[in-house]
Amino acid sequence: MRKTRRRPYSEQRPRDLGGGVSSVPVPIPGNPLGYTLVYAVDSPRGPVLVDAGWHHPDAWEALRGGLGALGIDVTTVQGVVVTHFHPDHAGLAGRVREVSGAWIAMHEADAALVRLMRGFADGDHRGFQADMLRRAGAGPGDMVAVSADRPRAPTQPDRELGDGDLIDLPGRELRAVHTPGHTPGHICLHLVDAGRLFTGDHVLPDITPHVGVYPYDRDDVDPLGDFLDSLDRVGELGPLDGLPAHEWTFPDVAARAAEIRRHHEEKLVRLAALLAERAEPLTIWEVAAMMTWNRPWADLSPVPRSMAAGEAAAHLRALEASGRIRRVSGLDTVRFQALES
Ligand SMILES: [Zn+2]
Ligand SMILES: [Zn+2]
Repeated sequence: MRKTRRRPYSEQRPRDLGGGVSSVPVPIPGNPLGYTLVYAVDSPRGPVLVDAGWHHPDAWEALRGGLGALGIDVTTVQGVVVTHFHPDHAGLAGRVREVSGAWIAMHEADAALVRLMRGFADGDHRGFQADMLRRAGAGPGDMVAVSADRPRAPTQPDRELGDGDLIDLPGRELRAVHTPGHTPGHICLHLVDAGRLFTGDHVLPDITPHVGVYPYDRDDVDPLGDFLDSLDRVGELGPLDGLPAHEWTFPDVAARAAEIRRHHEEKLVRLAALLAERAEPLTIWEVAAMMTWNRPWADLSPVPRSMAAGEAAAHLRALEASGRIRRVSGLDTVRFQALES
């Protein structure tokens, strides 16, 4: 059931949330998410931003103008803490640094990914994707289209954060909480002195974030397992007010985190049952086509389809990691099968 609070970007306004915290909606052109909520946290030395928004001239105008409407001159920004490397969060961080001299901070695991992406040529990227799709059992039509339209690599941060690190924000206590899953270096930011948690994409009030494995057949990581642990992690911080990067602010992060955890647990149970009904092992593509998405699999265009496959792969990997299914290797295409009971 859809809640009624979803409103388009055009109805969003910069807001003073009290306690020296404000939010600015920054549009994501052409994306159904609509906007990123960029937060500004005051300090005697100047504001620190949590995330920065998508790299686009309209987004930059919205950020600069929105901060201005709240009495904040973007040139006075001291720093940008990025919750994770995705372009709707890190995209404008470099631009903010250019005009203000602000530092950019990011978790060390995402900073390492940014280094990797910046060193990755377009040709390498296409080859990597084609191999990954082939091993997952994708058809030739999916191969060509997915490689197009890649956003530019994010700016390298000046500061790398670890779990529990205090953000440089004089007079306030803002701590990084490592919450891997959506990305390996995703962080939430706990404003300890105000009982608030900037949740990035980790916990959103209505939708659940994308959690995928790339390449799809990697067996040395378990992003969904990490994500579920990270939901427990923020639940243990107590009943905090949620300040997410999309949608709207919400009370009680712990309750919402528990709800998201249940959603994935149910999905895992259904997926295990689906594999148990089949005699033959299934490819990641076959499994993805059988799972429930926001639109029928046949109607998904290549990019959402490749993300759905990543999500299917993350669920398969979590089931494998917890000993509930097995991987059939040896052939070029990886397949998964229920354990004999
Ligand atoms: Zn994200
Ligand atoms: Zn996002």
